[in-house]
Amino acid sequence: MPIDATQPYDDSNIFARILRGEIPSKTVYEDEYALAFHDINPLSPAHILVIPKGSYVSWDDFSATASDAEIAGFVRAVGKVARDCGLVEPGYRLLANAGLNSGQEVPHLHVHIFGGRPLGPMLSS
Ligand code: 5GP
Repeated sequence: MPIDATQPYDDSNIFARILRGEIPSKTVYEDEYALAFHDINPLSPAHILVIPKGSYVSWDDFSATASDAEIAGFVRAVGKVARDCGLVEPGYRLLANAGLNSGQEVPHLHVHIFGGRPLGPMLSS
């Protein structure tokens, strides 16, 4: 069920629970600002989610209200994960769904990193 990205942050969302260690995940990378882990339902050979440690529903409130340090730390983490996973040379795709029309399902900002095969057209329709 797509979420409304203007809703207040819900501390019980699945990625908040992963951040608190209440639910296991396969960690790829972690630092002060970000956690990266394998998507539970991978859509490509490499499908990694990178989330900020702060409580942000989507790109909208993150870009509007996160500190410069949080934004820089998160963006650098996304790049580092892709680099460390060997995705730069073959190429990869970043995707961040935000709100109803995008189909965002988890109400904690996440960037998908897709790679490991040619990824086809940008949108399916
Ligand atoms: P969205 O549609 O919100 O952009 O993407 C949410 C993603 O989170 C989906 O690709 C889905 O497979 C993934 N996901 C949902 N629940 C879990 C979970 O408990 N663990 C992990 N690792 N990924 C999850």
